[in-house]
Amino acid sequence: MSDEENKLKINKEQQSQDTTEKEGINSETEQPWYMEEPARRTFFKRIAAGGGGALLAGAGSYGIARYSLEGQEVTDYPLIDEKLFKPKPQQDTILNFVSSRALNKKYPERNEQYNRLQKKQFEWINGFRDMYRKPWDNSKPGYTQMDRALQKAGWEPLNLAGSRLSANLQPNTPFNTWDQSDVEKEQYQFETKKQASDAIKSAARVFGAVKCGIARRDKRWDYDPLYDIENEKELSWKKDFPFEPKTVIVMLSSMDYDCMATAPAWTADGTAADGYSQMGVKATQMAKFLKGMGYHAVGAGNDLGSSVPYAVMAGLGEGGRNGALIAPGVGPRVRIMKVYTDFEFVEYDGPHNWGITDFCLSCGKCAEACPSDALPLPEDKNGGYGFEPSYEFSDEPGYTWNNHIGIRKFYSDAKKCYNFWVENGSACAACIASCTFNEPDFWHHFFIMAINPVMPKFLHAAMAESHPAFGYGHTNDPKKALKFWKSGEGMRTNILMKNNIGTSNKS
Ligand code: SF4
Ligand code: SF4
Repeated sequence: MSDEENKLKINKEQQSQDTTEKEGINSETEQPWYMEEPARRTFFKRIAAGGGGALLAGAGSYGIARYSLEGQEVTDYPLIDEKLFKPKPQQDTILNFVSSRALNKKYPERNEQYNRLQKKQFEWINGFRDMYRKPWDNSKPGYTQMDRALQKAGWEPLNLAGSRLSANLQPNTPFNTWDQSDVEKEQYQFETKKQASDAIKSAARVFGAVKCGIARRDKRWDYDPLYDIENEKELSWKKDFPFEPKTVIVMLSSMDYDCMATAPAWTADGTAADGYSQMGVKATQMAKFLKGMGYHAVGAGNDLGSSVPYAVMAGLGEGGRNGALIAPGVGPRVRIMKVYTDFEFVEYDGPHNWGITDFCLSCGKCAEACPSDALPLPEDKNGGYGFEPSYEFSDEPGYTWNNHIGIRKFYSDAKKCYNFWVENGSACAACIASCTFNEPDFWHHFFIMAINPVMPKFLHAAMAESHPAFGYGHTNDPKKALKFWKSGEGMRTNILMKNNIGTSNKS
């Protein structure tokens, strides 16, 4: 055999081996890889026994899938208990409170109560300083100098813009400025409301948002009063805010799957910090776009109002047990930014249902993964709490000073969460990484998302159980950090996003 023929033979053998690996066949057991895990086998058996019909029905109809991805309009969001509900003062959010010396001085009983009940000696006001001072350990994957460097680089755009405190709800930073002196005098006129909404969403896509929706301004979600942390004073919507907002444009940017999968390691905070920087950049760009068309606008990250309900009102997803927005096709791996404007000649979006909150009732993977027990487990696992207008977390009165009660939703204990961040030396995000809806952008995940609303409820728990069996959602795993730092070699691009869910709710 000549050298050339030899090379040809070796190449053919190599190709045949590659094909076998790609098709997922384990040549030793002759089982497809996806049947090796007992939990996966159980999942497929349950599908075959109980859910196969629903699966096939979903598979048989592209129309149903499209319909499901767009969700169904709902008229009963939000469910509010008027006896309990009132607007939330910004200073009662954890990130604001822990950044303010004046508030810590004013309410010493809050820290005393938490430390006593949780048996901690926790330094609330110095938490953020202590968090980032924790020394790296280059022998510990996810907690090395390189991981810390990624995290710091993620924050850098906000730092350079003098807007770092916007992540802790500081309003009126250079990125999210309240200055309206650059609003054009001439107002651009759209012919139709649809044209206006399409234009705003097209601009959002240019700025890099993965989704954009438009909600009416709703005072129930606005922090009131606002709070200027740098100058330690309350701000009023009427007296201090530069105009009366009518509309809130909500945009989402996504975070990196492989980086987030390292949670709660410092690595994951690299993509979270970058997400915060993106919030600043994109919100300021959208605000500038509106000002350029002659309308008042102020960008916001976590500040001004509660982002999750605004995103739900803008039709971008549903609230999850983990306290995050779960957006169809992206899951909870998103950052939310808002732009308040007085422009109101738009087609408003509205809340939709994809069966996500229903799914959360039977799931609870995020709560199981939470290292600080800050999230509620499903009813059958903790004896009673699922989804309700308020939740105390303690029998002692006043413990839930930071919760916005009176809304039917899942409640978490953000005090425990923040405490863990400081001990960990970084924000955590295990509840995002572990979520059953946090999946990479493979087509079958979009398909599962699409058929979720038509799946019988008894399969939800099985779907949640099977998720880790397929290799997803594991947290606190040093191998994930090692994998992430090699993942550049096979960079994932989000090529399916636009065609499946549309960057502006349309494909
Ligand atoms: S970020 Fe971490 S500690 Fe906080 S709620 Fe999520 S999982 Fe729990
Ligand atoms: S892990 Fe499960 S319960 Fe938690 S938010 Fe995601 S789907 Fe809901």
